[in-house]
Amino acid sequence: MKTITVLGATGSIGDSTLDVVGRHPERFRVHALTAHGNVEKLLQLAVRHRPEVVSVTDPQAAAGMEARLRSAGLATRLAVGPDEVVEVAGAPGIDCVMAAIVGAAGLAPTLAAARAARSVMLANKEAIVMAGRLFIQTCRQSQVALLPIDSEHNALFQCLPSPHGPSGQTTGEAVRRLILTASGGPFRTTPVAALDSVSPDQACAHPKWSMGRKISVDSATMMNKGLELIEAHYLFDMPASRLEVLIHPQSIVHSLVEYMDGSVLAQLGNPDMRVPIAHALGYPDRIASGASLLDLAAIGRLEFETPDEGRFPCLRIAREALAAGGGAPCVLNAANEVGVAEFLSGRVRFSDIARINQAVLEALPQADAPDSLEEALELDKRARHLAKQQLERCPT
Ligand code: NAD
Ligand code: MG
Repeated sequence: MKTITVLGATGSIGDSTLDVVGRHPERFRVHALTAHGNVEKLLQLAVRHRPEVVSVTDPQAAAGMEARLRSAGLATRLAVGPDEVVEVAGAPGIDCVMAAIVGAAGLAPTLAAARAARSVMLANKEAIVMAGRLFIQTCRQSQVALLPIDSEHNALFQCLPSPHGPSGQTTGEAVRRLILTASGGPFRTTPVAALDSVSPDQACAHPKWSMGRKISVDSATMMNKGLELIEAHYLFDMPASRLEVLIHPQSIVHSLVEYMDGSVLAQLGNPDMRVPIAHALGYPDRIASGASLLDLAAIGRLEFETPDEGRFPCLRIAREALAAGGGAPCVLNAANEVGVAEFLSGRVRFSDIARINQAVLEALPQADAPDSLEEALELDKRARHLAKQQLERCPT
């Protein structure tokens, strides 16, 4: 029996995780579930999975929750506020923590899990983008197994050789390139001039994946793929020059590893996050995910094309941040979170997101890579402040 904590249990990744967990009651026991403010859903999840702890970051939302847990007949402990979530995430001896909080808010709990859990399943890509070096060092020091959940990184993880095979050859010696696939999002063929007037709902209508709104907008700008390039750099210790992006509208090939001899290994599956989640939950075993099986004959055709950075400037900007190194990825992530939030609430246009990202990255070019949580949060704060100044220059 493995114990599991799900950070961000009420989100899209939380749903998929608890769906897989619920299929294997003999394998998993839910220790803790966390949410920001959706206490209705958290309560339903608590009734179904009977965790020892539930945690709510927003104290206002948590009002009345204690009584509701008791009247549902649960002895579950309630932990309220951001510090409590970090404590829950860092509880010692938990077998697996799913890090599925969206955005920079996930950094402190994800780092806490990396210090204390036996394995961390990483969905919260913003955390590794903000503080990649610190996060990887923390995982190494505490000997936590780091399992990627992002479908591309999970695919790469499945296709890569084990880090030190019997010959002693390193991954860097065996592998020429890592190729991340991208669907191209909802605006792959939209006329570029029309991108100024697209609505948040259009941006969130992803053709292949059903996801939270922040990552859906990132997929539409392709900043998601930019963040994933940075994530791949840290997870697999690969230089930017050996990381490629390939548009693949069907979202069946989740990523590819090109070896020195010209062999290319890819992982395929239907676009359903339960597949990478089940891989990580079962690892090193394989367990059922509930996803429908791949029928290649029915799909018939798999297409690939090179991304157009004129259409998707965020991809180029993310490459610039990766090349600049240091704190640049953290700065970019913060600017992007501000731009996306403002776009989702209708205050700026879709194309302003890239403009804000570029301006903030140029305003803070030489930031050092954060060596501590406090440094990462401080840099994040500075970049957010600059991004908000940029908003004043956006025509409404
Ligand atoms: P979501 O918006 O559906 O869910 C986010 C979760 O985070 C919710 O449980 C919410 O309560 C919690 N949360 C939000 N703000 C918080 C805060 N301030 N403090 C604490 N908790 C907070 O998002 P999602 O689509 O599930 O994505 C979660 C993460 O997984 C993101 O980093 C995303 O990039 C990554 N990811 C998602 C998918 C996907 O298919 N959804 C795929 C790959 C990676
Ligand atoms: Mg992905």
